[in-house]
Amino acid sequence: MRNCFLAMASIAMLFSSCSNDKNEITDENQSKVDMSDFYVYTDASVDEAQRLAEGRNVCHSMVNLNRQLNENPELEKKMYDVEYHTRLFKATNKPGNGGGNPNGGGSGDVDELPIDDGLGIINIPVYVHVIYSNTNENISNAQIASQITVLNDDFRKTNSDASLLPAEFDNDITDSEIEFTLAGTYRHSDSKSSWGTNDAVKAAYPPISPSTHLNIWVCNIGGGILGYAQFPGGSLSTDGIVVGTQYFGNTGYVAAPFNGGRTTTHEVGHYLNLRHIWGDGRCNRDDFVADTPKSDAPNYGCPSYPTVNCKSNDMTMNYMDYVDDACMYMFSDGQRNRMRALFAAGGAREDMIN
Ligand SMILES: [Zn+2]
Repeated sequence: MRNCFLAMASIAMLFSSCSNDKNEITDENQSKVDMSDFYVYTDASVDEAQRLAEGRNVCHSMVNLNRQLNENPELEKKMYDVEYHTRLFKATNKPGNGGGNPNGGGSGDVDELPIDDGLGIINIPVYVHVIYSNTNENISNAQIASQITVLNDDFRKTNSDASLLPAEFDNDITDSEIEFTLAGTYRHSDSKSSWGTNDAVKAAYPPISPSTHLNIWVCNIGGGILGYAQFPGGSLSTDGIVVGTQYFGNTGYVAAPFNGGRTTTHEVGHYLNLRHIWGDGRCNRDDFVADTPKSDAPNYGCPSYPTVNCKSNDMTMNYMDYVDDACMYMFSDGQRNRMRALFAAGGAREDMIN
């Protein structure tokens, strides 16, 4: 039944994609799209609960996705379509001199070249919703500004700690050429002191223009959870990311070791369709990015290099791992291509740049 569904979905995409001549869809390109490894359901609900029980701080995006998939039978098909479009984008567009480093020469890791999609610098306008139950949580404008600065540094590879990168990954670190501008801040005093991860904060304070703006809710989530994002393909009424107050920005009311603003960088990565670096499964599960080596679990703290899992060195310093803020400092060229596909013609976040 599942294979039948996927085949039907594939045929549906074939016809809908043919009508879009901007992508220069050809039979040859479509034959390059292999969806056989795609998945949306994971064991995250069990895995993240186990990590929390062990005292770890975690991201709840994959658990949130499991919940939304259960609540909305149409979501799996929508995410399949987003993935198909992403893979078709990669098959259709030739790698070029984009913002990444096209030079090979790594010591054995898979290289992926940045695609020059002709879109230039992409700017995402951001609305920040601050929901507070005490004065500490009513964070300063300076704290909000610090988060926007961190986002821009991390997505444009102007973060100073990029210099820590081991030589093995020199050819992988990327400038995504995606930027962020604060478009407005909304503050709400609320007696509720802990919001959880079931989108309650979004129901109380709905997103503003979510098809054209990234909405970020900053509130106390509770339970050791740093933040959670919604993947592209989900409902507009809950689109955006939620970040725990003390993990937002790098100055003011922040808590070490997640006081570098990297929780938001990580969650925006999910919002732009990036999976966790270990694929939320064992070695046979992937994050659909070729130049991030396979791994079987998250890393924590500040790992020493090399950290070997699944017969390769983990890219522990990638923003989509679980390490401390001070020890994550890169996206890869493959992740850049995956994120930017969303903004190309027919992409799930195309409306943001029009
Ligand atoms: Zn995550």
